[in-house]
Amino acid sequence: MSAVHHVDHVIIGAGFAGLCTAIKLQEDGETDFVVLEKCSDVGGTWRDNTYPGATCDVPSQLYSFSFAPYDWSRSYSPQPEIQDYIRSVAERSGTLDRFVFDTPAEDASWDDATQRWTVRTQNGTWVSRTLVVGAGGLSAPRTPEIEGIETFQGRVFHSARWDHDADLAGKRVAVIGTGASAIQIVPELQKTLEATGGHLDVYQRTAPWIIPRNDRVYPATERAALRRVPGLRRLYRTGIYWAHESYVPAFTLAPGLAAPATRAATLNITRAVKDPALRAKVTPYFKIGCKRILRSNDWYPALTADNVELVTDPIAKVTGNAIVTADGTEREIDVLVVATGFWTTELPITEHLTGRTGRTLAERWRESGMAAYKGTTVPEFPNLFMVVGPNTGQGHTSMIFIIESQVAYIRDALRHLRRSGAASVEPLPEATDRWNRTLQQRMRRTVWTRGGCHSWYLDAHGRNTTLWPRTTADFRRRLASFDADAYRVVAPVEVAPGEVEQ
Ligand code: NAP
Repeated sequence: MSAVHHVDHVIIGAGFAGLCTAIKLQEDGETDFVVLEKCSDVGGTWRDNTYPGATCDVPSQLYSFSFAPYDWSRSYSPQPEIQDYIRSVAERSGTLDRFVFDTPAEDASWDDATQRWTVRTQNGTWVSRTLVVGAGGLSAPRTPEIEGIETFQGRVFHSARWDHDADLAGKRVAVIGTGASAIQIVPELQKTLEATGGHLDVYQRTAPWIIPRNDRVYPATERAALRRVPGLRRLYRTGIYWAHESYVPAFTLAPGLAAPATRAATLNITRAVKDPALRAKVTPYFKIGCKRILRSNDWYPALTADNVELVTDPIAKVTGNAIVTADGTEREIDVLVVATGFWTTELPITEHLTGRTGRTLAERWRESGMAAYKGTTVPEFPNLFMVVGPNTGQGHTSMIFIIESQVAYIRDALRHLRRSGAASVEPLPEATDRWNRTLQQRMRRTVWTRGGCHSWYLDAHGRNTTLWPRTTADFRRRLASFDADAYRVVAPVEVAPGEVEQ
């Protein structure tokens, strides 16, 4: 029989969210926790996405915790540098001894009789007072449902699970998708294949809007100044933060404000693409901002290279060695990369979280749509805290600001539990409904719902359950303190000594 461990808090996931939670709990003296991580390293999405060209598309300065600044090498840092940053923060934090790697949480359920969560894994069971889920909103790869894809005989892999053993030299490669991942992968693949006589087909269903990326290496003098001049790094970061916050009205209030971005993106096309037919193919039909605005200087030049074909005819099927489009054309390939995004509105982990009524979170959300109170807590799920929960996502800035805001709220909730002697908190249905009604009303005016596109922001009913429709500063203000009056606060049950604690 596998071991049963009793702790105060279980945290699921060792990405930015789980790590931030662990560090901040420790700061509060809440040291009795464990972080369960399915893989063998910290880093979450930045550990998983090792595809060629993986780089942050929000400035590096915003890609660090406010409490752990970093000496970034350039304005948009590559994945290995971000992963090194996360690892270095974890190592310095003194929390790593409570990280349990290679231990996916298989299921977690709340027991009202003991007022505890029970989290089962193949390596043992953890029983805890609270459960913090930091499993990520963009962590479960979504592979396309295309007829015959399972019959393909060559290598096939998702962008977030890059197969580094696949030999691409001189091969015929296809990439399906033209989202944030694909636009970073394709220019790198194009160069590799050009150098080795290989060919690349890029399958585009929807042309994205792409603005130039003002990437630069930080000169040594600038890095030294950022390290040494007191307050300079903070000032820098604050400037970048507010510059990005200023984009929000263009998304949420008046899409007309995005005209300069549309001009920059259009110029990005006309400068690089001279062929009118290719220009027509890469020009988006929807309003800028409706889908995530992408940043690249080398996407369009890559598409114009001799060894690349942009295919816009819909894919009909995949055979053992080719992709066949609806017009009947068959293009033979050796390797297939699916850069087709993630499960975002139906999060797989919710199938494995069971609340006090015996329903899973997935069942609850299938009925009512993905919704939480303040993106963090859910009725029927006592002492469950989600980091990067529903409607906390960002299209314009770093998620780390949101993560720190949510973790501050969770710390305050735990302080409330300590002070009040209560055993559990769970948001009231009325407060949760009010929060989401207001949010969805606001959503109606946004470019995400009115911009004429379909994106991963929207669920099957066309509701945006992923993004926060105001500034991140506003989000932080709303989560600044734990609002116990919006919660069902439950006193401890009478338990015979030894029944709960061991
Ligand atoms: P994505 O933005 O969802 O893009 C998926 C692409 O695959 C889209 O072009 C989509 O076409 C296409 N697609 C999906 N299913 C298809 C099918 N059955 N047939 C043909 N095409 C199909 O996914 P992603 O590029 O992985 O990016 C997801 C999010 O991750 C981003 O929005 C961003 O938030 C984050 N991200 C960040 C970075 C960064 O910071 N550097 C990098 C990568 C990703 P449609 O547009 O027609 O649906």
